Amino acid sequence: MSDEQLDTLRYLPRRDVVRVCAELDLVDSVTRTLIDHAEGRTTLPEEAYLPWETSDGAFARSLTLPGAVWGERPALGAKVINSSLANPGRGLPRAQGLTLVFDRERAHPVALMEAAYISALRTSAYTVLSARTLAVAEPGRIGVIGCGALGEQHVRLLAEEYPGAEFVVFDAVEGRAPALAGRFAADGLAVRPVSRARDAVDGCAIVVTTTTTTTGYLPEAWLSPGALVAHVSLDDVLPDVVHRAGLLVVDDWGLIKADDRRLLGRMYRSGELLGPDEAAPPGPGPAPRVVDASLGEILSGRHPGRRAPEQTVLSNPFGMGVLDVAIAAAVHEYATLHGIGMRLPV
Ligand code: NAD
Repeated sequence: MSDEQLDTLRYLPRRDVVRVCAELDLVDSVTRTLIDHAEGRTTLPEEAYLPWETSDGAFARSLTLPGAVWGERPALGAKVINSSLANPGRGLPRAQGLTLVFDRERAHPVALMEAAYISALRTSAYTVLSARTLAVAEPGRIGVIGCGALGEQHVRLLAEEYPGAEFVVFDAVEGRAPALAGRFAADGLAVRPVSRARDAVDGCAIVVTTTTTTTGYLPEAWLSPGALVAHVSLDDVLPDVVHRAGLLVVDDWGLIKADDRRLLGRMYRSGELLGPDEAAPPGPGPAPRVVDASLGEILSGRHPGRRAPEQTVLSNPFGMGVLDVAIAAAVHEYATLHGIGMRLPV
């Protein structure tokens, strides 16, 4: 490597990240990383969570998710993703950020790229994988609650996976669900907007939550037998869904345990939820719910997964930095090979 290359890093704006991701198999990358994680070949520190209020009183936050993968394709780095709840009203995406890739030997950052596209893609690729692994074989109807960036990316990927499925979508802000349906109509995909959250759950074999709520609203009574809930936004289901799920799948229990903001972390703190190998303290009161497995443990055959077709399944993917970092490293490798992006001095 020349001195000049040592003093530069590769920068990829969103358009280049989109172009490179189209060449990669992201579901495969997510699968390999989850198995590496389940088999102990990753380092996954806790998320750093920085909340604040904007000058006009909106909630804003910055999340930093570092991670390292030590499997067949080692990858190191960190994602920083920020958001303001006022952004959609300004016509801006709610979330934006940057992902760094580190060089294993020198430890210097070697790449910097737009984070939101990879974040949305890796999250929907995770949902596709959980649907392949945990949902009924032919989901007739799929519900998506929350019609922002993540909701749209989920409809896109799940429609590729299940071309025969009917999509029903709901958003708390009037007009967003019909607008999403309209964007898919242009592609010839039938997506039906509904005006109540319950209508995006009724009769659905897969329910995906991609909202920004911090107040649960989805009770177990709304779910059909055998439904899979992909609880991407982490605060939508009510505790009875957690207690009564036939199978409770989480990633990653360590991250969830360390978090006191979202539902499962709060349930752990109140003694209602325990990790896979944790024993309940003796005493009166109802027994806590115990987490069954991670998706990686099911993929690697360490846990059998769903045991009966009528079992409901709750999948709660906290969002692991190792997934972003593994994909960002693959994007960096492809971009370097094909001369995509620009070199910036450091
Ligand atoms: P966004 O702001 O673009 O879209 C969210 C949408 O949800 C908005 O249209 C909003 O009106 C709607 N909404 C809010 N509360 C609602 C409610 N109670 N019922 C119905 N609709 C509601 O956000 P986004 O970028 O699409 O992200 C969606 C969520 O996904 C966020 O909570 C984000 O933190 C989460 N996320 C999770 C992961 C993960 O790995 N688990 C990864 C990325 C994003």
